[in-house]
Amino acid sequence: MTEYYPWQETQWRSLTERRLQDALPHALLLHGPSGIGKADFAARFAHSLLCQQNHADGRPCGRCPSCLLYAADNHPDSYLIEPDKEGGQIKIDQIRALIADIGLSSHSGGYKVVIIRPAEAMNTAAANSLLKTLEEPPAKTLIMLLAEQLTRLPATVRSRCQIVRFNLPDKALAQCWLVDKLAEKKVVLANPDDAARLLAMTHGAPLKAFADAEKDLLGLRKSLFESLAGLAGGRLDPIKTAGEWVKIEQSMPIKYLYDWVSDMIRLRQVPGCFGERAEYQKVLHSLSGELDVQKLYIYLDRIAESLQLMAQLNPLPIIESLLIQWANIPKQKTGTQG
Ligand SMILES: [Zn+2]
Repeated sequence: MTEYYPWQETQWRSLTERRLQDALPHALLLHGPSGIGKADFAARFAHSLLCQQNHADGRPCGRCPSCLLYAADNHPDSYLIEPDKEGGQIKIDQIRALIADIGLSSHSGGYKVVIIRPAEAMNTAAANSLLKTLEEPPAKTLIMLLAEQLTRLPATVRSRCQIVRFNLPDKALAQCWLVDKLAEKKVVLANPDDAARLLAMTHGAPLKAFADAEKDLLGLRKSLFESLAGLAGGRLDPIKTAGEWVKIEQSMPIKYLYDWVSDMIRLRQVPGCFGERAEYQKVLHSLSGELDVQKLYIYLDRIAESLQLMAQLNPLPIIESLLIQWANIPKQKTGTQG
């Protein structure tokens, strides 16, 4: 069952009111960081528009024929446009097919609802082919575009949509939700502070935090972080460690490495900035306290490049090279370079 979250109440009410006044725009651009539930909100609102017997607050009834079709992922007036693989593009053929489909009258006589996500994935031709439809869509059609970064969307697309902003939820609210959700799904945390730590690690995005907990990433992250310290201290061999890291899916260790090095740089610029996570701050400091910040910046760029390369090339030598570099940074202390 799709849902919207307690931190999305304002957006839900505002859109529901406009719907009741028959004043919904044709195109909405749902904008905000990842991991906070924009996609679920869009799905819930789509469901609500398709339901034939909504509750007074706009929630779908869950029982009418439309709701049953929607729940079975089979509603003919509901359209989802996304890349065919993660990180891929949304292509012009997909948009053309969509335009042809929504040009026909709706199957159930009600709304037609389109979700495009992430909108940034539309290539230029796809985005251009959507412009006319965004401006003059068929009657009773709502197009919802989901985006994290508005600057990556053409201005011509942005200007044809009404922007609905989603912010990171309030910390206490997010933590409360996370604790409830983990309990509901019987995900057991090793210690009571873990919910707060999970949230901090995902920069306050509760859905991402929940997904991480489910995948037991907390333990993985801890062991990766320890191996980083082992490499820096010369206790671990970079080649052997790379052989272990490469087995972990989705380049996860390298994504973490990127986060950690970013945090090391931040800590050097704003001492004490991770004060709420004293232990993490202490380890970060012990790992990077004496390193040349410029070298850390260069290393961070290398990680970013490596992440792109790993998608196309054999990742093992790339990880090896990164870890060898990491193991060697500590020798280049501030003031001794050159
Ligand atoms: Zn219904």
